[in-house]
Amino acid sequence: MSVHKKSREELKLMREAGNIVALVHQEMKRIIEPGISTKDLDEAAFKIIKANKAVPTFLGYHGFPASICASLNHEVVHGIPNEKCILKEGDIISIDVGATYRGLVGDGAWTYPVGNISDECKMLLETTEKALMAAIAVMKDNVLLDDVSGAVEDVANSKGLGIVRQYGGHGVGREMHEEPFVFNYRVGNKFVIKNGMTIAIEPMLNLGGDDVHTLEDDWTVVTNDGRPSAHFEHTIHVTDGDAEILTKLL
Ligand code: MG
Repeated sequence: MSVHKKSREELKLMREAGNIVALVHQEMKRIIEPGISTKDLDEAAFKIIKANKAVPTFLGYHGFPASICASLNHEVVHGIPNEKCILKEGDIISIDVGATYRGLVGDGAWTYPVGNISDECKMLLETTEKALMAAIAVMKDNVLLDDVSGAVEDVANSKGLGIVRQYGGHGVGREMHEEPFVFNYRVGNKFVIKNGMTIAIEPMLNLGGDDVHTLEDDWTVVTNDGRPSAHFEHTIHVTDGDAEILTKLL
């Protein structure tokens, strides 16, 4: 497996890319409300990415037609923005966005409540965010990647949530998807994370069971049981001390 450790210059550009991802999420949080369409969200994201002299990483990636993935309720990931998809009170909407700045990628996702949501959806969002933060907290030089995966699994299990098995985190940098792949549960992986690596951690947790499938549009991944799913992601830089979150405002 070839894993590319980042130089100081690359890290500087990844902080810029991460800042643009965070600016998009800041705007999503501000404008998400009942009545807005996921197409409107996509257009807002595109404008922010372009205004910051970056490229929407997702647009055209394997033919993906938008700058964000917008996955509603039982949609897990890779939902395609659509003017007919209008958010309504009680929905949850997962927004995943990538920005490429001077060749380096930032990748981050967040699930937002639309108005007031049910207590079980609140728990799902809180727990998935907590799983992300627990995983980030164990990311240090010389730690087994499997322990990062295990941190997500333990938080999910503490609330009896389903864990999506087919998708996970990944190295990120000059490419959106680099080695290593990061499972959201223990697999006995012996990979050791090292100072200088940049990795996207992205738990996808379900209120119901683990199982998901892809719709006929060949993109949208949904839960088999139709229950809601949440997705939180940050791009992380492994350092000697605490891991650095790159997808945050500078
Ligand atoms: Mg990702």
